Amino acid sequence: MYPYINKGSAKKLEGSIYVITFFVSDNPWSIIEKMDLFKYVRDAESWLEVKANEYGKKLRFVNGVHGLFEPFMTDIVPDYESGNPQWGIAEKYLETAGYPVDASYPEWIKKNSGCNQSLVFIIANMIGRGYANPSYWESDGPEGAILYHSENWKLTAGSIIHEFLHLFGAVDLYETNVQSAENSERMELMYPKEVMHNPHHPLKELIISPLTAWLVGLCDKEETWFNTFLPK
Ligand SMILES: [Zn+2]
Repeated sequence: MYPYINKGSAKKLEGSIYVITFFVSDNPWSIIEKMDLFKYVRDAESWLEVKANEYGKKLRFVNGVHGLFEPFMTDIVPDYESGNPQWGIAEKYLETAGYPVDASYPEWIKKNSGCNQSLVFIIANMIGRGYANPSYWESDGPEGAILYHSENWKLTAGSIIHEFLHLFGAVDLYETNVQSAENSERMELMYPKEVMHNPHHPLKELIISPLTAWLVGLCDKEETWFNTFLPK
């Protein structure tokens, strides 16, 4: 079984999921802009709920947010481009906000949100390259993703969906250090509007391929071609 599946606080795209969004910025950030960005989070969640429903799965998101009306104080805004992708970004932010990050975390989430699963989503007001911190080991520890928003590089609901899906086990399907250029071309032919291949299509055109659906637990049917795209 592929190792990203069923690990961490975001296991399967099913049931109720608590999304804890953090807005972080080094300088003052308008509430109106943050409210607009938060709408994209809701759009991403609605899209995922509809897709899960098409696979016969009930999915519901509950939202918690930090840094929307009051600035969220943190000593570090994680940066990928600097060559230091930060591990444990979810823990770092949760800890600062006063959440338990030990073994009591899943129970705390359940008690306070009614959800069985959770994820942390950080929106940073600066230029940078987003990434996700999924869990690869047997743990219920918090998983999180970060995306950057700036004047020239605006956040989209498609990118949010892409990072959320990583936390549930999806893999990149474009050319990266885990996916060859050849594989990216294959995906371009098979599912050009697959959200893990290219999230920059209009929301209503984006799709989840059978491979991604299988990885995030929407369906159990494993097809032989999946293997080509799974990191070795
Ligand atoms: Zn990705």
